Amino acid sequence: MGLKYSLPFPKGVKPVTGAPHGRYAHNGPKFRHATDFVVPPGTPVLAARGGTIYFVKHDSTTYISDMALMDRMTEKELRRFAEKHTNWVTIDNGDGTFAEYVHLDTRQIVRPGQKIRRRQRIGYIGMSGLTTEPHLHFNAVREKRKRKGRKSFESFPVEFSA
Ligand SMILES: [Zn+2]
Repeated sequence: MGLKYSLPFPKGVKPVTGAPHGRYAHNGPKFRHATDFVVPPGTPVLAARGGTIYFVKHDSTTYISDMALMDRMTEKELRRFAEKHTNWVTIDNGDGTFAEYVHLDTRQIVRPGQKIRRRQRIGYIGMSGLTTEPHLHFNAVREKRKRKGRKSFESFPVEFSA
């Protein structure tokens, strides 16, 4: 899409990209192009682009990090657990695309409706949801053609600049 995304961490943080949470999180059209950045817990998370805060969930201290346990859960159980226990922030980037910053801790520093500048701090890395180690799951999504009036979203690939 040619959109510019900044690396969502303060200067000096050197994230390792990898996939630390099993089969659930990167399946299907909604999550296919998500990026995982492994960073120390407590690392500040910055907005990769400016926009408006669309959604915030910051109430969970619960997570599953045991991959074998995740593998024994059904897709439905995994989805339910993730929805209930994952802290994340979604930013509406104002051009029909949204970015999800997933696996934050309980510190809430932004609110829905708040305008956010590129590289403004929006949260901190923590363990919540389905995650084997502290990391940021970053997913940029755009609205897909509506089927039967239902909105759905698909992820798209993003390149990060420093
Ligand atoms: Zn991920």
